Amino acid sequence: TPGLYIVATPIGNLGDLSPRAAEILLNADLVAVEDSRVTAGLFRHLGGKGRMIPYHDHNADSVRPGLVARMGGESVALVSDAGTPLISDPGYKLVRDARAAGHMVTTIPGPCAAIAALTLAGLPTDRFLFLGFLPAKSGARAQAIAEVAGVRATLVLYESGPRLSACLAALADGLGDREAAVAREISKKFEETVTGTLSTLTARYADAPPRGEIVVVVAPPGEAAPATAEDADAALAEALTRLP
Ligand code: SAM
Repeated sequence: TPGLYIVATPIGNLGDLSPRAAEILLNADLVAVEDSRVTAGLFRHLGGKGRMIPYHDHNADSVRPGLVARMGGESVALVSDAGTPLISDPGYKLVRDARAAGHMVTTIPGPCAAIAALTLAGLPTDRFLFLGFLPAKSGARAQAIAEVAGVRATLVLYESGPRLSACLAALADGLGDREAAVAREISKKFEETVTGTLSTLTARYADAPPRGEIVVVVAPPGEAAPATAEDADAALAEALTRLP
């Protein structure tokens, strides 16, 4: 069927490509890819060839109208280098324009590093906020962290190895020393999840920047500290003044 197929691909282990994703990729009239060398590797694994067309941050605006036009009569699959397209990856404008043009839009859901890390962290999962990559510059990063300090949700963010320790320190500064987890190389040979407070994790990685791909998960703000006896007395006294 013509239209747009948003196809999730593995974040490390090629075995995580779903049979339906493989079928769509092998049969799509066109596969919009972030980096054709990366997706060529996936097609090698599948033992087939895809009709790939580059679609990335630098050419998206010029390529998009033609791509959307072709969805009227052809099946167009969208993939990113890894994981779920649109999640810290290009794609949302393609979906927006495909919808505006009235084309069929569907997804073949699958791996996503943010969700995988959330499941590994052992922190509350009922409410979470995905922050993508924080700004690299320390001032902008501190501001971005300050903006979410009051949010009562687990935070999930992407970071690179060389910047990890500085990022954890900035999170401890802006949020307080919360529990956190660093999930690395998920679904790959050297998968590892390390948990601890932001300050212990900062220290752990300060002199040993980790290799590979990383997701940081941070606990929500703690419950308010237990009231002291004086607080309780004051609250009681205040309540008594309001009794009839
Ligand atoms: N669209 C992707 C997804 O659904 O996960 C994310 C793309 S984003 C450009 C790439 C970042 O995701 C990496 O820098 C890293 O923070 C995280 N990531 C991707 N694969 C990962 C893995 N196997 N383990 C841990 N983090 C990963």
